[in-house]
Amino acid sequence: MNIIGHKNHDRSLSKTKPVIVAGVLALGLLAQPAQAALTFSFNYLNPGQGFDDPTFGAARKTALNEAAGMLGAYFSNYTANLTYDVTSYSINKNTLASAGSDSFIVPGTFQQTIVQTKILTNGATDGNGADADGSIDWNFFYNWGLTDNVAANAYDFKKVGMHELLHSFGFTTFGNATGAGFGGNAPGTPDTWSKFENFLTDASGNRLISTDGVFDSTKVAALTGGSGSVLFSGANAVAANGGVGVNVYAPTTWTDGSSIAHLDDDTPALSQLIMASTVSEGLKTREISAIELGILKDIGYTQIAAPAAVPVPAAAWLMLSGLLGLFGVNRQRRAV
Ligand SMILES: [Zn+2]
Repeated sequence: MNIIGHKNHDRSLSKTKPVIVAGVLALGLLAQPAQAALTFSFNYLNPGQGFDDPTFGAARKTALNEAAGMLGAYFSNYTANLTYDVTSYSINKNTLASAGSDSFIVPGTFQQTIVQTKILTNGATDGNGADADGSIDWNFFYNWGLTDNVAANAYDFKKVGMHELLHSFGFTTFGNATGAGFGGNAPGTPDTWSKFENFLTDASGNRLISTDGVFDSTKVAALTGGSGSVLFSGANAVAANGGVGVNVYAPTTWTDGSSIAHLDDDTPALSQLIMASTVSEGLKTREISAIELGILKDIGYTQIAAPAAVPVPAAAWLMLSGLLGLFGVNRQRRAV
């Protein structure tokens, strides 16, 4: 393997003591196999602010820990302690939160994130040593619903928390609008991609990126081709989606951080799922759909499964959400 580097986040703030939270605690009564579990350690890097706010910090940390536990319940056949650097800000912009995990740059390959490798090796391989495995950045400008009672004018913290963590798990892309990958190489030249990008096709099912990491220069336009122009065509996802590829978010105006790295918001059946690119206010599903589970299996998580008990069926939340839409409640969707 010819590793020539990996993406780094530039962090200047010192780390605080990590808080270790068992990924299964939030789900209390669920039967869990002994020992196997993901655990999450969050390093809160903004003393006195955001997650460390003297008034709101404790509840925000609890919400993040509970979101991690709800996600971890699907991964109970894996064992790994995942560490995250967590930052926050309060700015009136469209983004609610963002997250990621580094990868190695190896041209011509489809790389797992550091977090993804750690999970899939049950903690045996930590690609960046003592550094945090992933990072989360949260915008506290908006009104957040931190519990299971999310007001109609608040964003669902736990849903967004699961969404952000899933990006670090490998539901992510390295490419940009020009068809360049992680290394910035032009189409026609081998570049580095995420495992997720290994399964991208055009509407006809033809790969965007060859098995040796070369983006097809005739398919650059698909990246901004609108709904249905780029599909996730992994076998498990297709099986969960009625035998066809899953629409990936490919708006006609490229949006860094949103384009291609999400399910298509403009496809009604996908717009309310956890991995859509935007979310509106109110209580949302915290259940990972069969389509999303299929995608996660395709990118390597073959042992995941829905937890034995889920508090409320996703269908009920989707119905509620649809009704809110019908009755004209303000639904300001923002990027996640
Ligand atoms: Zn996202």
